[in-house]
Amino acid sequence: MKFIKAAVLAIALLAAVGFVGLQYLLSQPAPAGFPILEYHMVQAENPKDAYEYNVPPAEFEAQLDYLEQEGYTTISLRDYLRAKKGLQQLPDKPVILTFDDGYATNYTELLPILERRGLKATIFMVGNDIGKENYMSWDQLKDIQHRGVEIGSHTANHLPLTQMDINTARDEVKLSKLLMEWNGMDTIYTLSYPNGKYNQALTEVLKEEEYLAAVTGDAGLNTFETNPYLLQRINIPHPMFGITEFKWRLIKGRIFTQLGIGQH
Ligand SMILES: [Zn+2]
Repeated sequence: MKFIKAAVLAIALLAAVGFVGLQYLLSQPAPAGFPILEYHMVQAENPKDAYEYNVPPAEFEAQLDYLEQEGYTTISLRDYLRAKKGLQQLPDKPVILTFDDGYATNYTELLPILERRGLKATIFMVGNDIGKENYMSWDQLKDIQHRGVEIGSHTANHLPLTQMDINTARDEVKLSKLLMEWNGMDTIYTLSYPNGKYNQALTEVLKEEEYLAAVTGDAGLNTFETNPYLLQRINIPHPMFGITEFKWRLIKGRIFTQLGIGQH
């Protein structure tokens, strides 16, 4: 199972462009754009029912070391949006670290790593899961936001927004934002689509509900020209082949961008 998934990733890349094509693409100048990485949990204990969503701390730190060696600097989605308006400069090689769902270990295990390294990150919370078992409590959430982690919405109930009528979808994005803001958190203006599923109508709803940006599950790199409601992310599940797999996943983002796959 584990092997199959990584093999499928490699084969999918090769099938998409062919081996010669892949070598050619990699010999070309890297395309413009920066990666947004999609994580869920970073914790020492692998949850049995969510194994593939966990990147163990040692693996995560190896990935951070690699990003540092490659010259990447973490930014927040807010930094990106401000830079797009000309209000601030971005570093030469930005990267955004995002974490979906809001697990309690984001606070107990991930936050210390981020703080020790001085890294920025964005966590997308499911409004109605806040305070439930295995998820961050309101106190943890407020504290992590005060300590500089950007908080976004992952809707009220984590239901696929494309499988409900548009008014219910509007409630899902609106209520999660209001719930967090009414509970004393700073303004919520970014969203992660549950299961990465979106459509055109949803991007309009997000605009109307005063969201400024949203992230999908489509692989690729982002520029100032990317639709801010369809920012692309490179998924980073539990690695089966260590740092090599991580490098492959970054290459996948680059190749998909060079081929124009999933570009918005
Ligand atoms: Zn999720």
